[in-house]
Amino acid sequence: MDLSITFSRTYNSSSNDIYISATSNKSYLMSAGFPYGNGEPYDGILVNTDFYNTSVNRTDAISCFTHELGHCIGFRHNDYMNRVFSCSENVTVVNEGSTSTGAIHLPGTTSSPNPGSWMLACSDGTDRHFTLDDILALKIIYSYRKNIYVKEVLHYVTSDYWYDAYSDWEMVQWVVYAEFYQDANHTIPYTTAGNFVLNMNIGSESDYEPYAELIPDGLTSASLGTFTRERYYSYGTLVQDNSSGYRVASFPGYWGP
Ligand SMILES: [Zn+2]
Repeated sequence: MDLSITFSRTYNSSSNDIYISATSNKSYLMSAGFPYGNGEPYDGILVNTDFYNTSVNRTDAISCFTHELGHCIGFRHNDYMNRVFSCSENVTVVNEGSTSTGAIHLPGTTSSPNPGSWMLACSDGTDRHFTLDDILALKIIYSYRKNIYVKEVLHYVTSDYWYDAYSDWEMVQWVVYAEFYQDANHTIPYTTAGNFVLNMNIGSESDYEPYAELIPDGLTSASLGTFTRERYYSYGTLVQDNSSGYRVASFPGYWGP
């Protein structure tokens, strides 16, 4: 997935960052914890051998190991606020809540439980692959920066205005495209690969939030949709800004046409 984090397996128990060991007679399939901070992951995964052992072959084994590794490197259950979403058979479901650990929503990913995600609280016994939201979350947290140059291109759609003695209104609409290049002069196109993530801003010109979007593989440009600049002025002073849409983040001359 082109992440900045990689894993290597060691059988040396004194040089590991995350160990995997056996437990039994527990109410969980596997368990882990959250990172210690300063780049240190949580250091242990417990595997309940009542469920995982040499005489059974559970389809969810890989998903569960991946899930616990996810906890160790900082990922929470995405149904922490509504645990019944994945643990519906369990009648004594208690929501986790954000707790003192905290839960930070990654802009661009859904803030509600993500069907099929590898970080749902409960296994459904199946082999869960990464969803598009999972991939985006991993790419945001463990981003691997490439020297890809993004050119923002605005395609004019329409504009309107009125001016009177003391107040003005202006509206301009563009469709915003991001074009990808391998060079700073924007001559050699780059074709997206490896789940390319584009960092954008969403909002108005005065109030915007970062937003990450997963761009499908095989593209040399992507439409970010319509951006509308709509502003009211009174005696030359901006009094209302209804601008909205997506723009490429950190683009020079950011909000202007
Ligand atoms: Zn978990």
